[in-house]
Amino acid sequence: MPIGPRRFQAVLTRNVAQGVHRLAHAGVNCYLVEEGRAVTVVDAALPATWPYLRTALEALHRGPSDVAALVLTHAHFDHLGFARRMQEEWDVPVYAHPAERTIAAHPYRYAHENPRASYPIRHPGGVPILAAMAAAGAFRVQGIDEFTEFGPGDELDLPGRLRVVFTPGHTFGHSALLLEGRSALLCGDALVTLDPYTGFTGPRIVAGAATADSAQALDSLRAIAETDADRLLPGHGDPWRTGAAAAAAVARSVGAS
Ligand SMILES: [Zn+2]
Ligand SMILES: [Zn+2]
Repeated sequence: MPIGPRRFQAVLTRNVAQGVHRLAHAGVNCYLVEEGRAVTVVDAALPATWPYLRTALEALHRGPSDVAALVLTHAHFDHLGFARRMQEEWDVPVYAHPAERTIAAHPYRYAHENPRASYPIRHPGGVPILAAMAAAGAFRVQGIDEFTEFGPGDELDLPGRLRVVFTPGHTFGHSALLLEGRSALLCGDALVTLDPYTGFTGPRIVAGAATADSAQALDSLRAIAETDADRLLPGHGDPWRTGAAAAAAVARSVGAS
């Protein structure tokens, strides 16, 4: 269901896994996980995605009061966009790994291996995506100070009963979220099928322009493979439908960029 202008419009795709709906906008994904009437939102996209979240909930015959929680795979600005509004306007609790605390409070202070300035020249394919992200408010994300902490292996007592799969490297607290009964892994930026910094598609870790430790990120692909999930639902790009182990193998062979 397209919402908005054509290029990098907001698109809601229902049931990318059973009861999981993808809201894609400006090259960034967030997900709505249903259980009964209740919804867990995974990741908070960009500030301009906020009205589309509401439209998406309406399309699913849900409203703000049905949203039980916002769970963050990590706290980069492109996954934190409407987190503060959700807390303040909808009184929704936020969950994240404790190592994300500094970035969550200061979204533009984060570790990355490589300088970002050279990427648009070396990888022009990333330029339209980064421009769309900027237009959707990538440079005006407000941080959050409060969230509930989770740890590796935890099963969150929230709609979807997400299991935390610790996948550090992209950020130091990055955590993928497993929907065990639905064989789907919300893998955030630990493994993407579209790298916004280069425009490259297919399973890969995110470029060093936005990744704190690429060696650690490549190492974390093992944890993704071990979930044995059928579907991977990444923070950027289309769902991967042919198994976690195959995606991890491709990402490992592609390596860091
Ligand atoms: Zn990220
Ligand atoms: Zn991202």
